[in-house]
This record gives sequence, C-alpha cells and structure tokens, in this order.
Amino acid sequence: MSTRELRLILLGPPGVGKGTQGRKLAQTFAIPEIATGDIFRNAMKARTPMGLAAKSYVDSGNLVPDDVTIGLVEERLAGSDAQRGFILDGFPRTAAQATALDALMHKSSQRLDAVIEINVQSPEVVRRLTGRRLCAICQTPYHNDSAPPAVPDVCDRCGGVLVVRSDDDEATVLTRLAEYERKTSPLISYYRAAGLLKVVDGNGDVEAVFRRILSAIQSPVSPVA
Ligand code: ADP
Ligand code: ZN
Repeated sequence: MSTRELRLILLGPPGVGKGTQGRKLAQTFAIPEIATGDIFRNAMKARTPMGLAAKSYVDSGNLVPDDVTIGLVEERLAGSDAQRGFILDGFPRTAAQATALDALMHKSSQRLDAVIEINVQSPEVVRRLTGRRLCAICQTPYHNDSAPPAVPDVCDRCGGVLVVRSDDDEATVLTRLAEYERKTSPLISYYRAAGLLKVVDGNGDVEAVFRRILSAIQSPVSPVA
C-alpha cells in the first residue's frame, strides 16, 4: 500500500483490461477506482433516473450523452475519498469530457499525473469481450477461458452470481469499438500533446500488464521515495 497521491486515467478500447488493472491500482494506492460503466450499470439496476436515462445508450453500445456523464463524474470526484487521487476507468471518452475534466482539475487545484493507454490488438479484444462474465454484485470481471472463477458461475471475491453483460454480444461489441475509434481515440493525441500519455502493452497476463503500468507511472511522472 502506498500513501502517494495519484490521479490516473486509463484509456483504451473496450476489452483491454482497464477494469481489471483499475481495481489493482486502486487497491495498491488506496484510492477509488471510478468506472463510469460500472456506475451506469448500477444505476440501471437500481432504476434511478440516471440509470433510466443511460439504459438505451449502454444497451446499444453507444456513448451516454456528455452532460449526463460529466455531471456524474463531477459529483463523484467531489467525494471525500477522491481527494487523495483516483483511477478513472472509462472517462473521459470524448473531447468534451476531457475538457470538462481539465476544468475540474484546474478549479480544485489538482493535476492529472498520467494517462495510461493500454494497447491490445483488436481480434484479442473481441475474444476477451465475448467470453467475459461479471459478478452481478461486485462487478469483478472473469473470462470463460483465461480467467475462470474457482467455482463455476460464482464470484471468488463475494460469492455473487456471474452474468454476461447485456452489451457483450458481438454486434454491440462492434458498436462499442466503433464508438471508441470515432470519439475516444482522438484523446490519445490530446493527452500526448499535454505530456501525460504513457503507452503500455496490454498483452500477456494480468500481473505482467500491472507491472508495466507501475513502471510507466513511476519514474518520470513524480519521483516516489
Ligand atoms: P467498456 O469499456 O468495456 O465498453 P464500460 O463499462 O466502460 O465498458 O462502459 C459501458 C457503457 O457505458 C459504454 O458503452 C457507454 O454506453 C457507457 N459509458 C461508460 N463511460 C462513458 C463515458 N465516459 N461517456 C459516455 N458513455 C459512457
Ligand atoms: Zn463479486
């Protein structure tokens, strides 16, 4: 565990492992992982007004409108647990979201430390997504081939039942990848220009990718003792 302040964005198409790595980073640095997709899915399950507003977009693989998403993240980042840092997984996903986050950081006198782009070839992404299952309760991801639970259909962490995400069918996966290419991938050059971008190879096992992320955020960003 580290007490270092850390403000990270995880960037990359659906299925590269942002959620898995985000959780590990959050645990290691004792800061929250803020995953907009998880927040939307929980709101949908609870049928809150935001969940109802997001549902048709999420289920079809399209992005939820910026005003809804930005409002949600602003509120979440104001939480007391997020003042020492955060891992953003799935936000920002559009230029407008990135601009809003910059404004928010400025207003609260905070700074992003790094943007980690996790890179995986796209056939591998489709394979990962279509075999994926999630714990219905704690959202931990599993994979039928590469990361099965110890007991079939049961979450290792909390005992919850594993489900297939409603947007992990092949057609919706293709829409999500197209949305990423069109609206989110331009953020790569945006953050490169800001001097924040670190590209990490997302192939290989979870631990190997995690080590690459740790070394990417360690040296040049801000030296830790
Ligand atoms: P993945 O990265 O695997 O596609 P997420 O769980 O991050 O999955 O997101 C699932 C869905 O939630 C997206 O397809 C989109 O509809 C919605 N969503 C999540 N984050 C955002 C965002 N920042 N802006 C707009 N929509 C979002
Ligand atoms: Zn669970």
